[in-house]
Amino acid sequence: MQAKKVLILGGTRDARQLAFRLIHAGHDVTTSFAGVTEHPVQPEGKVRVGGFGGAQGLRQYLQAEKFEVLVDATHPFAAIISANAAEAAGDVLLLRLERPAWTARPDDHWINVENIEVAVSALPLKASIMLTIGRKEIEPFIARADLKGVARMIEPTTIALPPSWILILERPPFTLESEMALLRDHSITHLVSKNAGGSETETKLVAARNLKIPVVMIARPFKPVVTTYSTVEAINTHISKLGSKTG
Ligand code: NAP
Repeated sequence: MQAKKVLILGGTRDARQLAFRLIHAGHDVTTSFAGVTEHPVQPEGKVRVGGFGGAQGLRQYLQAEKFEVLVDATHPFAAIISANAAEAAGDVLLLRLERPAWTARPDDHWINVENIEVAVSALPLKASIMLTIGRKEIEPFIARADLKGVARMIEPTTIALPPSWILILERPPFTLESEMALLRDHSITHLVSKNAGGSETETKLVAARNLKIPVVMIARPFKPVVTTYSTVEAINTHISKLGSKTG
């Protein structure tokens, strides 16, 4: 195996696990954070924080630092950075690590919507909702005065929540029992979720299924087509098989 210089675009648990795996396979790994989370869980290896200044800035960074492999391991809903990665990669091998989207089972009641705006309008009058989307996206839900419920996120919002809303600051994973208790205790009528995929936050969907609560499921945004793997191990295998010439 030839050691490679790898830049991981991170901000996800998968990215962290990939950094760990690649470092232990002998590669030289840097993880990049956008800098939106104040206290991200630190991965092994080198870390850089902050935007690159668009695709051009990312291309310059890749060239200046002589990276050989770029892994886009960002969240499925981080569409801009993925587009920038595809535009910036050039001769640098670009791979994406992305967990498969969740799919509804016959006993689920999903209301599939294409974005946040449609999710807001899909909710009936006076719904009591559990919001499990990022702090940057809760505003249009709060703007609807008839809605109330629970907003769960990792870090505090920058805007104050109205008194009819409860803010829960917690990091996954969550147990099925606690998810069911949360939905029951707050008389939740609708769960709102992005289709993030993965097992870490899936228990809320099982809880909603068990309690027959409808889920407003927001579809993933478009990302450019690149070589994509759904597991850390598969990416590690790809990178570790590369010869002296990347590609
Ligand atoms: P985004 O809309 O795709 O990107 C916005 C800008 O943030 C990009 O243009 C880029 O700035 C910068 N950026 C994003 N990810 C970066 C990274 N890993 N390293 C350096 N710069 C980055 O991204 P987002 O949806 O705001 O997500 C930001 C970060 O949070 C990502 O790392 C993502 O994995 C993580 N995250 C997002 C979600 C979500 O639901 N969106 C959920 C969990 C975690 P420049 O153009 O200046 O380079």
